[in-house]
Amino acid sequence: MTVISQQLQAVHARIAAACHAAGRDPASVQLLAVSKTFGPEAVRAAHTAGQRAFGENYIQEAVDKMAALADLPLQWHCIGPIQSNKTRLVAEHFAWAQTVDRLKIAQRLNEQRPAALPPLQVCIQVNVDGGASKSGVAPEEAPALARAVAALPRLQLRGLMCIPDPQPDFLAMKAVFLRAKALHDQLRAQGLALDTLSMGMSGDLEAAIQAGSTMVRVGTAIFGGRG
Ligand SMILES: *Cc1c(COP(=O)(O)O)cnc(C)c1O
Repeated sequence: MTVISQQLQAVHARIAAACHAAGRDPASVQLLAVSKTFGPEAVRAAHTAGQRAFGENYIQEAVDKMAALADLPLQWHCIGPIQSNKTRLVAEHFAWAQTVDRLKIAQRLNEQRPAALPPLQVCIQVNVDGGASKSGVAPEEAPALARAVAALPRLQLRGLMCIPDPQPDFLAMKAVFLRAKALHDQLRAQGLALDTLSMGMSGDLEAAIQAGSTMVRVGTAIFGGRG
């Protein structure tokens, strides 16, 4: 067994334990393997171990990796910042874009999504912990953005994504994630058909699962440190 397959197993065990502790079905939490900075061989090893969904932050790096792995049935998620000049690459190559935080970017993705592909699956990135310098839409602006994105025909709004800063302890971390969960529930109550709450990484996936995450994005715990 490769190191990557062992580490994937360990992450699945953590997800299962966290779900058990939260009284949740482990099948309700999807694992996104974050392969940024790692080469195609690492992704290939994770695929061999059963992993299908991969997250990438750097768009050109991701597109190069996809070309090297075109023989595999992988699902690619953009989880890094999307500048206007990169929307075409995202629209043409990714299945998901999780970091939409401005209508202008959503509109460009909608215009540039090729007709031959299914709609781009989108999450709105929310700045739940409110750092002024952080990316993500402010929570109070998220409902209007979500409604506008949901109306774009070549995008399918799936939910919310957040990357809060680490907190000193588990309960403080969970409290931050619960804000994203509350916003997600609020948007659903307003009639938006959301099914995805993308939150939790190598260091905080247990707190995110306690708070209701449906997709954890894990890099280091699968592939090792990024140096
Ligand atoms: C790098 C990254 C991750 C994975 O972080 P780890 O701590 O390595 O698990 C998850 N989400 C985003 C948006 C990232 O940039």
